[in-house]
Amino acid sequence: MPIPTPTAERDTPFDVAALAQLASQFFAALPGTTPLPVASAASVPSPAAGGLNLPANPLPPGVPNGPLPQPSTTQFAGLGAGVPALNLVPSGPDQAAARAKPGAAQLPHAAAPNGLPDSLVTAAPGIDGRLGGVVLGVPQAQAPAQPAAHGSPFYFLDLAAARPEPPALELPGLGLPPLDLRSPARTPFDVQAIRRDFPILAERVNGKPLVWFDNAATTQKPRAVIDRLVHFYEHENSNVHRAAHELAARATDAYEKARSTVARFINASAEEIVFVRGCTEGINFIAKSWGDKHIGAGDEIVVSHLEHHANIVPWQQLAVAKGAHLRVIPVDDSGQIILSEYQRLLGPKTKLVSISQVSNALGTVVPVHEVVAIARRQGITTLVDGAQSVSHLAVDVQDIGCDFFVFSGHKVFGPTGIGAVYGRKAVLEDTPPWQGGGNMIADVSFERTVFQGVPARFEAGTGNIADAAGLGAALDYVQRIGLPHIARYEHDLLAYATAAIKPIRGVRIIGTAADKASVLSFTLQGYAPDEVGRALNEEGIAVRSGHHCAQPILRRFGVEATVRPSFAFYNTCEEIDRLVAVVRRLARA
Ligand code: PMP
Repeated sequence: MPIPTPTAERDTPFDVAALAQLASQFFAALPGTTPLPVASAASVPSPAAGGLNLPANPLPPGVPNGPLPQPSTTQFAGLGAGVPALNLVPSGPDQAAARAKPGAAQLPHAAAPNGLPDSLVTAAPGIDGRLGGVVLGVPQAQAPAQPAAHGSPFYFLDLAAARPEPPALELPGLGLPPLDLRSPARTPFDVQAIRRDFPILAERVNGKPLVWFDNAATTQKPRAVIDRLVHFYEHENSNVHRAAHELAARATDAYEKARSTVARFINASAEEIVFVRGCTEGINFIAKSWGDKHIGAGDEIVVSHLEHHANIVPWQQLAVAKGAHLRVIPVDDSGQIILSEYQRLLGPKTKLVSISQVSNALGTVVPVHEVVAIARRQGITTLVDGAQSVSHLAVDVQDIGCDFFVFSGHKVFGPTGIGAVYGRKAVLEDTPPWQGGGNMIADVSFERTVFQGVPARFEAGTGNIADAAGLGAALDYVQRIGLPHIARYEHDLLAYATAAIKPIRGVRIIGTAADKASVLSFTLQGYAPDEVGRALNEEGIAVRSGHHCAQPILRRFGVEATVRPSFAFYNTCEEIDRLVAVVRRLARA
């Protein structure tokens, strides 16, 4: 049946103008919303006339605009002992006044955030109209104006020089350096400004301001990421690689630019980055492609006792299929792997060492540089699970020396459903495709298929294009704050929380390694972890309670579940105080 072409409003299945009027009335009735003016049918440009002329979105306040130099003097060799402490108390009104600069400025020098056209790159008010919400916690006058690589002033403080060593404060059991929470203006960024970049942090839960302490499960998204997704669907949406039209080119550019951003973020090259759904799919991909080719009967795969199920189950499945064996690096009572035991496990049959850089259940930072170096000396392939590290520590895959590195976008302020596998080029080239279909082929006949090179041959079918662009925006955002600054701030946040929780009667902290990131796992005598979780939820505080998909390590400590607050750079001491108050109240009851 021929489909009639509507020639007038009455021919359409509904009245567009009436619908718009209705929508406007609906939104006007919602509290706190400003209705958009309703366009009359006549004022809506027809597609033939070039479509709607959308105003360019400015970047949201707080998104730092353009690459910032990494601090040259802040040393972060892991976060073990010896790292001077920060003041996590929000900076006072004087600092805010010193920082505030009215007006938004166009940034001629700034690189557009991942895949975002220059028209969208507009600075929000901040230092020199450049930094937006990422603002130093010290009066501007104190900031050294060092020239940076791109010729603009250097905005991050020389923290080591500006901050005197705080007096020592014992943190029994953790071995972390002392805190100084008395002196204002000592954070490497303005956490309140950062928080304004994350719309969801303004939510209320059970009538209370939301406290998001479930960052190890997933992180919240800054406006820059949300806007990037909207921009993709409004201006770029197309399939990639396969068409000679404008939107295909825009979408392909966005997708491939995101690949380059991921590569830069972990110091790899773009051809070494394979997009996957996340860490779980990444490890499964490696097991089912590289593993299928390289693991045989009697071979051994080494993992640690700390692993998430995602880094256990695929290897178990492979071992069963191949007649191979899984070997487990034990941990000590603090939750750190025992390196000497690890060395003893390795032998001529060991084909792979696959290990988390940060434990999601305990927060242990594993010395992956040493783990990888030991394996490499024996010619063993290595995989590092970076699900819990990329948002907390600067990762450099060259420096680690691993063959594979995997992470999930949603744990590093990006969208769900997108993640990346890094594979050293020579290793990827020695890895067969795992899924077949479109995009991964160079030529297909019924007799045979010629595959693409790396990485395309590992990306069969239509990928998660928009979310890849969103991931790029997230990594740009994180990089502008600077992982050394993030690591430093979070380190002291964790120390603050640990010092406050530990003395509470009935609290047992699970995981007390000297080097930890983000995670504070604990049990409270007399309460099941989910009872604590529910009590916290009543106060608007979100934590994970359960086995955290890491049952073997919890059982190593004799528990089936813990309460697990996990922190990110947008969390504050005040939020921790709210959590501690609930735990104290429960402990007293
Ligand atoms: N490894 C670790 C250490 C994790 O924490 C997680 C997620 N909790 C994963 C792997 C799996 O990540 P995803 O669910 O994003 O695939």
